[in-house]
Amino acid sequence: MNKQDITSIKQLLAVKQNIVIVPHKNPDGDAIGSTLGLYHYLSKGGHNVNVLVPNDYPTFLKWIPGSDMILRHDSQTKLCENLINNADIIFTLDFNAFHRTGNMEAVLSNSNAIKIMIDHHQAPDNYAKFTYSDVGMSSTCEMVYHFMDKLGDTSLLDSNIATALYVGIMTDTGSFRFRSTTSTTHDVIAKLIENGADNTTIHNNVFDRNSYNSLQLLGCALTNLRVVPESRTAYITLSQEELHKYDYKKGDTEGIVNYGLSLDNVVLAAIFIEDKNEGIIKISLRSKGNFSVNEMSRSYFEGGGHTNAAGGKSDLSLKETVEKFISILPSYQKVLNNE
Ligand code: 5GP
Ligand code: MN
Repeated sequence: MNKQDITSIKQLLAVKQNIVIVPHKNPDGDAIGSTLGLYHYLSKGGHNVNVLVPNDYPTFLKWIPGSDMILRHDSQTKLCENLINNADIIFTLDFNAFHRTGNMEAVLSNSNAIKIMIDHHQAPDNYAKFTYSDVGMSSTCEMVYHFMDKLGDTSLLDSNIATALYVGIMTDTGSFRFRSTTSTTHDVIAKLIENGADNTTIHNNVFDRNSYNSLQLLGCALTNLRVVPESRTAYITLSQEELHKYDYKKGDTEGIVNYGLSLDNVVLAAIFIEDKNEGIIKISLRSKGNFSVNEMSRSYFEGGGHTNAAGGKSDLSLKETVEKFISILPSYQKVLNNE
C-alpha cells in the first residue's frame, strides 16, 4: 500500500459510505478483533458499517465490544447478501483469497464494491483495488492500527478499538511470544493500553473462562498425544465421539495443538479433529524455526497459512489422515532434524 493508495482511500472515506467488513470462515481472535476494531474506527467517521462473518466463532470472543452486532452469513444469508450487494466498500480482513470465506465466496466475487484487503498471510490473491499485505506482521489487528496511523487517525483510538485490536494481537502472537512479535508490536500494544485496552481483563476474558467439559476435552486430547521422535513431531487426534462426550463447543479445541509443540525437542505439531457434519478432518499445524507448515499444508492438506501456523483439511477418515501424515514425515525428516 503506497502513498497514492493512502491518499485515494482517504478521499474515499471523506464521504459517508456503505461499508462491509468480512473475515475468514471459522473466525479466530485476530479475525474478530480486527473486524471489530476497524468497525469502531470507521463508524466514528460516520459511515454505515456492518461486520459479516461466514459462520459462528468462539464464545470466548463474544464479549468484545461490538460483537453483539456481528451478522452471520450462514444463518442470516439474505440480509448479509443484500448488505454486500449494496456496499460501496468491502474490507476483507485476515485472509488472502475469497475461498477462505466458505459460502460467501460467490457473493463476494460478484460484488462491484471497492475491495480493500488488510492481511498478513502469504501469497495474497489479486482481487482487491487496495491491498495492504504484510507477511511480517504479527496479526491483522496490528495492521489495522498501522492502517489508522497511515490515515493519520490514531487520535480516534478509544477503548472499543483498543480492546478489539489487543485481542487479536494477543491471540495471534500466543500472548506476545511467537517470532512475529516485534518491538513495533509492543509499541502498538503500549498505545492500545494507553487508550483503554485493559490487558488483565482481556487475558481473563479470553483464557480463563474454561468450562469443566472443555478442560476434560483437553485431558482427552493430551491422552491421545503421540510423538514421532525421529521426525521431532507430535500429533493429537480428537474424534467426533470424543468431542460429543465432552459437549464440544466452538473454540474448545483452540490452542490445544500448541501442547504438542511444547514438548522438548519437538519442532512440528499437528492436531486432527474429526468433523462429521462437514465430512472432513480439520487440521492445524504448528512449527518452530524455519520449517514451513504453510508449505506442508498447501502440498498435502488443501490449506495454508503462515510459516509457523497453518491449517488445512482432509477428506479421508481420521485414521487414514493420520496415516497419511505419518507417511509424509520421512520426506521432511532431514529438515526437521536441522531445525
Ligand atoms: P488454525 O490452525 O488456527 O485454524 O489456523 C492457523 C493459520 O492458518 C491461520 O492463520 C489461518 O488463517 C490459516 N488457515 C487455517 N485453515 C486454513 C485453510 O484451510 N486454508 C488456508 N489457506 N489457511 C488456513
Ligand atoms: Mn491473523
